[in-house]
Amino acid sequence: MRLPRILNQCHPIPGFVYGQASFAQDQQAVLIPVRPRKRSTALCSGRHQPAPGYDQSRTPRRFEFIGFWGYLVFLVYCMRRVNCQQCGVVVEEVPWGMGKHASTKVHMHFLGHWARKLSWKETAEEFRTSWDKVHDAVEYLVTWGLEHRVLGAIRAIGVDEIQRGKGHKYLTLVYQIDLGCTRLLWIGKERTVKTFKEFFAMIGPGVSAKIEFVCSDMWKPYLGVIREKCSQALNILDRFHIVAKVNKALDDIRSAEARRMKGDGYEPVLSKSRWCLLKRPANLTANQKVKLKDLVRYNLQSVRAYLLKEDFQQLWNYESTALGSQVPRPMVPPGDALADRADDESRQNFTRSP
Ligand SMILES: [Zn+2]
Repeated sequence: MRLPRILNQCHPIPGFVYGQASFAQDQQAVLIPVRPRKRSTALCSGRHQPAPGYDQSRTPRRFEFIGFWGYLVFLVYCMRRVNCQQCGVVVEEVPWGMGKHASTKVHMHFLGHWARKLSWKETAEEFRTSWDKVHDAVEYLVTWGLEHRVLGAIRAIGVDEIQRGKGHKYLTLVYQIDLGCTRLLWIGKERTVKTFKEFFAMIGPGVSAKIEFVCSDMWKPYLGVIREKCSQALNILDRFHIVAKVNKALDDIRSAEARRMKGDGYEPVLSKSRWCLLKRPANLTANQKVKLKDLVRYNLQSVRAYLLKEDFQQLWNYESTALGSQVPRPMVPPGDALADRADDESRQNFTRSP
């Protein structure tokens, strides 16, 4: 069996013919000549339409193909030029290549495929090519993927920032987190209002209007943009920040109450019970349990706040298939989301009794 026959089977190129393969001078590579089929018309690279021929280069160009048995494989072709009515005399477009890329499209697919399994450096070493070629291949695949991407309906998105490099440099990442479809949708520089708005500009108002859930942390610019661009969605905040806020609020209430009670002569009770309030009930000593009981009798705000926090933890850990699949909509309206970490320091903490 000859190589052209295999190639016609696995990589046919309409309008072109494979010639007999031969070794390159150094015996390290297999060269497969390609020539245009007789009377076939070339495509103008500007408009991707057939155009009258002009001339053909005498210098063959090599396009790297997928290698085999330790040999590098190249398609060798002398480019034609066309005389296009609109573009003038331009080089033709060949179906196996892309502009000035020295790789064939299949070779870029091949490298890109391996670059998902290995590091780019390893891919380059393993297939005897350069890091730049692997980078080009990945770029080609990503561009292709983005052009052919179907956004479709998106029910849930998650937004978060990651730090890049040294110092406070961030990227904003937006993921689709639907059941059965988890994918990275978008990356933007910085973590500002402007950054996140660019995401909504990319998906457009039609898609944003159908988003039902947005998961985010409590970074104020994100919260603002979610309220503005996705007001119908339920904004789900991450547990870490809520617990941190609850702890902070609990501490503030406790210290405020301690100050107030100091005047009333209750000081020892509360200051010695400080840690009881922050401890898990299971970890309390018998003595501490008694103290806590006393405190409950005072009906202190801090005790009620503490109980509220416990309720919250219980709710979070509550596992129910019914709850897990469908969060009741009125649970947290987006307007109730607490804003900003930076303001925390100076802000008054409001607590209501459970
Ligand atoms: Zn043209």
